Amino acid sequence: MTERTFVMVKPDGVQRGLIGDVVSRLERKGLKMVGGKFMQIDEDLAHEHYGEHEGKPFFDGLVEFITSGPVFAMVWEGDDATRQVRRLMGATDAQEAAPGTIRGDYGNDLGHNIIHGSDHEDEGANEREIDLFFDEEELVDWDLSTADWVY
Ligand code: ADP
Ligand code: MG
Repeated sequence: MTERTFVMVKPDGVQRGLIGDVVSRLERKGLKMVGGKFMQIDEDLAHEHYGEHEGKPFFDGLVEFITSGPVFAMVWEGDDATRQVRRLMGATDAQEAAPGTIRGDYGNDLGHNIIHGSDHEDEGANEREIDLFFDEEELVDWDLSTADWVY
């Protein structure tokens, strides 16, 4: 089923010049970017975005990290896009993530893992996160004019 998902290159990915690589990997997989912006996350947005982790021991560090520098926030579209992006990302702990995945190839540790993608196991997380970061008019409807197996 065609759907949209929220993806973000975190501050470590931006600092290390990996925006292009992350975008390229999702493009080459056949996913379609329908929104993107370079931005600074403030404290309030960080708390909302990571609200499910509030109260956990790593929460303050997570907020500090995600607000420490600019991020590149995006919306990607495709068949089962949320799950597909999570597969390309790899496991949360970058030291355990499989080689070939974004986190496996570039991430340093649990906290510094380059990329965020909506969790397909959290029902509706993709739509919630898209709404949190993007206004409807910032998203673009367009067709990839290629074969129908590239969505
Ligand atoms: P994911 O980003 O894979 O969906 P989670 O939702 O579990 O992972 O956690 C959100 C983010 O919080 C992770 O990407 C990671 O950067 C950070 N994080 C999660 N667990 C820990 C931890 N135990 N220690 C430090 N940072 C963590
Ligand atoms: Mg998560």
